[in-house]
Amino acid sequence: ATPMSVTVGVGRAAELGILIRDAEAMQQAANINTVVLDKTGTLTEGKPQVVSIQSYTALTEDKLLQLTASLEQGSEHPLANAIIESAKQKDLTFSRVTEFKAVAGMGVTGTIDTNKVMLGNEKLMVQHNVDISQAHADFDNIASQGATPIYLAQHNQLIGIIGISDPLRSDSLSAVKRMQKMGLTVVMLTGDSYKTAQVIASKLGITDVVADVLPDGKAAQIKQLQQQGNRVAMVGDGINDAPALALAEVGIAMGSGTDVAIESAQFTLMRHSLHGVVDALELSKATLRNMK
Ligand code: ADP
Ligand code: MG
Repeated sequence: ATPMSVTVGVGRAAELGILIRDAEAMQQAANINTVVLDKTGTLTEGKPQVVSIQSYTALTEDKLLQLTASLEQGSEHPLANAIIESAKQKDLTFSRVTEFKAVAGMGVTGTIDTNKVMLGNEKLMVQHNVDISQAHADFDNIASQGATPIYLAQHNQLIGIIGISDPLRSDSLSAVKRMQKMGLTVVMLTGDSYKTAQVIASKLGITDVVADVLPDGKAAQIKQLQQQGNRVAMVGDGINDAPALALAEVGIAMGSGTDVAIESAQFTLMRHSLHGVVDALELSKATLRNMK
């Protein structure tokens, strides 16, 4: 039978907007020493916006946005939504895309009017031998603002770079501080570029940053932390967070996240705040104390 204190704990958690799958999860949560936080949609609001477009050819910025948004029609990535919304606001008309391909953790490729177009990060450009040296200064400029730089290429030639910014949740800093005060090691884990991640992390006082992680690499990072003797809580929202959420001692999903993230986690936060993570951990500790 479930001890009375655990039943009380689960009920108290629900009042705080924390849904707990099973009572055993509280036991695990009481003993963790490391919190791993996904960046996009977890520390940030998950509502990215296009903030800059830079063209390297005669094509106008609107034309680049039109190409990019057309290409992203087939993608479900949050960055794709930002680009499509931005194009819609400018009343741009979308072109038909053939041979569309989404490359997980890298970007998208496709053909528009016989033009082979691709959009994504450095890994995607390297894979297609696109020379990105021309964009170096612009990349740095975008990343140093904590925004995500995305390259656009046509026929394996770089034609532009787009900056997309996703604001931090207003209380992420105070929540991270509470975690650190509890003596927890806080790690940021993201598929975004290292420079962008570093800028966001420094605003939050997070010094452990693991960036440029491919979708299947997040669980591997959790495993590594566990092999070093840590007991890990993973917090995330995306499809690519699901294996890491499942592997961690405690998986905590944002309620705004994808279904697969929520299904993989033991805790779900219904408030749009990382304070729910701290509340869940504190409550679990208190519940376990009451059992002894
Ligand atoms: P995360 O959600 O942690 O940022 P992802 O693995 O989803 O990580 O994406 C990693 C990177 O791959 C993104 O930051 C972006 O540069 C690139 N990328 C992935 N999908 C797309 C897309 N549809 N459009 C543009 N860039 C993309
Ligand atoms: Mg995310």
